[in-house]
Amino acid sequence: MPDTYDAIVLGLGAMGAAATYQLARRGAKVLGIDRYSPPHEFGSTHGDTRITRIACGEGPEYSAFAMRSHEIWRELEAETGLDLLTQNGFLAISGAGDRSANHGVAKFLDATAAAARSAGVSYEILDSTTLRRRYPALNVADGDQAYHDTVGGFARPENCVTAQLRAAVARGADLKLGETVVSFLQHDGFVTVTTDKQTYDAAQLIVAAGAWLPAMLKPALAANFMVTRQVLYWFRARSEAAHAQFAPDRFPVYIWQIPAPQSIYGFPATGSLDEGVKIATEQYDVATTPDSVSRTVPPEEVREMYETYVEPFFPGLSPVCVRSKVCLYTWVDKARFIIDRHPDHNRVIVASPCSGHGFKHSAGVGELLAQMALGEAHRDIAMFRLR
Ligand SMILES: Cc1cc2nc3c(=O)[nH]c(=O)nc-3n(C[C@H](O)[C@H](O)[C@H](O)COP(=O)(O)OP(=O)(O)OC[C@H]3O[C@@H](n4cnc5c(N)ncnc54)[C@H](O)[C@@H]3O)c2cc1C
Repeated sequence: MPDTYDAIVLGLGAMGAAATYQLARRGAKVLGIDRYSPPHEFGSTHGDTRITRIACGEGPEYSAFAMRSHEIWRELEAETGLDLLTQNGFLAISGAGDRSANHGVAKFLDATAAAARSAGVSYEILDSTTLRRRYPALNVADGDQAYHDTVGGFARPENCVTAQLRAAVARGADLKLGETVVSFLQHDGFVTVTTDKQTYDAAQLIVAAGAWLPAMLKPALAANFMVTRQVLYWFRARSEAAHAQFAPDRFPVYIWQIPAPQSIYGFPATGSLDEGVKIATEQYDVATTPDSVSRTVPPEEVREMYETYVEPFFPGLSPVCVRSKVCLYTWVDKARFIIDRHPDHNRVIVASPCSGHGFKHSAGVGELLAQMALGEAHRDIAMFRLR
């Protein structure tokens, strides 16, 4: 007889690790399965840092997830001793003239301030003079403005996954790593999950497969998603003094709507001069798949990034790129999350809360997924439905 679980979680990245932990914490018999051994570098949850913000310009409906994630990460920091969350402040910078939209939101600064008011987050609006004085690393234009709060900051994605999987196992969760799910089938009140090694039964299945999700759905549902290749860069500062301007105690995380096709975002320096300063932009022009994506970053791509998106805004950063990483967005129109029951299998929950801004919400989303799987009361998910 195959093993029978209350729930199986397919995929143990940001969302799946969080769901597995929340299920185990509730005393459920849970199995987590991943084709790799998370945290790993093939999906969407790597690269040292992720921006977290309670005031979400993508929509006020996201704030509760981020708030809950902060609480859960603080509990897990106490339990595991891992560094998960740094609240060094968040800037949303914009200005006059043509500016890039961020996650499809043209007036991202205004939308962020509105979300802050709705979530009860205190904030200030800084003018360009104040921005230059406080953050000399930033080359803002005259008349630029920024939203600033002190609850935002950055999370450590690899540590968050490790902490949740460790805490889940400590509460009795089973994990199968290096095992690929090849199919799932609902029948007779169960879901049977078949991997390349074995078969398992569960009352509920949570599919948190990240960029691999569209290939698991029929074309009409897969059409909700577009997987895109994104690149993270670490540029070396020109000197120790320039590097010091990016120290986390004096430099926040930021999203900057610049006069270019895409906005830029970035982080304080989390290491030495030679470890560089992380900065990125986004692209939504070319779709890809996790199996076909190019994971190398050629020198021309680095040069274009530096010349268009780095040098004009951060004169203290040199063209020396000490590191780069390719990562995948699973994008849904209007930067939406998908969290829904599978239309053909009511025991299967489909979880794709990404659209390039999912990490900060992942611990809270994991709690929602566990509540859904175990039939507990949970928040309304109407706005996250598959279309
Ligand atoms: C470059 C980049 C920057 C980002 N920046 C931010 C940010 O600053 N702030 C923010 O909040 N969010 C950010 N995000 C978004 C956030 O990181 C993602 O939303 C989140 O990590 C998605 O997690 P996931 O669990 O859905 O996917 P993943 O972490 O990729 O997990 C999916 C898992 O499923 C497994 N899997 C897939 N198929 C199978 C199968 N058949 N069998 C078994 N296992 C399988 C994979 O191995 C993988 O481990 C960023 C994303 C990227 C790519």
